[in-house]
Amino acid sequence: MSSVTVCARFRPLNSKERRDHGDSPSCIQSVDSENFIFKDGKEEESMFCFDRVFYQESLQSDVYDFLARPIIQDVVNAISGTIITYGQTGAGKTYSMEGPSILENKDQNKGLLPRVVEGLFECLKLDDETIKYTVKLSMVEIYMEKVRDLLDLSKDNLQIKECKVLGVFLSGVTEISITDAAEALVHLSNGISNRTVGETQMNMESSRSHCAYIFTVQQESVRDTRLKTGKLILLDLAGSEKIEKTGAEGKILEEAKTINKSLSALGNVINALTDDSPGRVNHIPYRDSKITRILRDALGGPSRTALLLCCSPSPSNAAESLSTLRFGTRAKHIKSTPRGNRSAEKVPRKQLFPSPTKDESCQRIL
Ligand code: ADP
Ligand code: MG
Repeated sequence: MSSVTVCARFRPLNSKERRDHGDSPSCIQSVDSENFIFKDGKEEESMFCFDRVFYQESLQSDVYDFLARPIIQDVVNAISGTIITYGQTGAGKTYSMEGPSILENKDQNKGLLPRVVEGLFECLKLDDETIKYTVKLSMVEIYMEKVRDLLDLSKDNLQIKECKVLGVFLSGVTEISITDAAEALVHLSNGISNRTVGETQMNMESSRSHCAYIFTVQQESVRDTRLKTGKLILLDLAGSEKIEKTGAEGKILEEAKTINKSLSALGNVINALTDDSPGRVNHIPYRDSKITRILRDALGGPSRTALLLCCSPSPSNAAESLSTLRFGTRAKHIKSTPRGNRSAEKVPRKQLFPSPTKDESCQRIL
């Protein structure tokens, strides 16, 4: 079974798209919950099949139930998970991830993040006194190939490192312990507002950077003092649109080029992982960008991954939507076997968390 679950989501048309395309404003002809026909407005028709299609009228809770709920259950059982939103700017990535506002947690439109933190704490057996749980949160933004700590803005160029025992990790990243969903939401909201402060100061939009929300769930049994660790990454990717469409120049052009490069690197990793042609090369180019290094375990590693392809249903965005859907079709063919984390297997606690060296606390988040 493919361990990458790929879903497509079409947001409702916005008022401009309605104005522009009057009577037949949608490219999508629904077939069923997994199949649809995409018409690009130029007589071309393509049939797509994904694990689930969320049409315009779908609810945030539908997306959460199908895509995130099973992953949360796995994370609690020490199988790491990753949820990625992909698509052009304005396609609904952040809406799906956060909802209209991260703190409006009673709102039925709340996104994956607030639902995930609630689901996570519901799944933990907090009343079981034989298990001690620790949940930690980190938040980083990748802008112009630099990893910035959204919970401590003084850390603006975190290094991604790898070691045999810990796997891939962000050296020195801030990890905040959280004890319930409400507390998590406050920290998430602070991190998100840091991102916004950065935007104003640096004149960048959120869609110009990738944003990763990382939850590490550790459970320690009092009986045998072994640690089990599951990690959950939610990743809101930067807009995937082609540079020409943005009409960018100067700094904006540089940003767009960097984004395109990192998303191409992601595409190349997916191509390499799904290439089963006889002459294929076994090298997977994870090291070509920060995002692919961070996603190393999620793509082809011991992790369960869900990809939400966010699209506009409008003919005016047909080319970008098609490109998003084709990206997802390739990703659907990645095969990997999720298994418990290295740390979930019988690794003694001392080996799992070596004492930090003098100049580096080896904080395990990735
Ligand atoms: P992206 O993060 O992909 O750039 P956003 O998530 O910010 O795009 O969405 C762009 C606009 O569309 C926002 O105003 C958002 O509220 C709206 N929107 C996106 N998806 C939906 C949806 N499923 N239902 C209602 N509004 C949506
Ligand atoms: Mg966004």
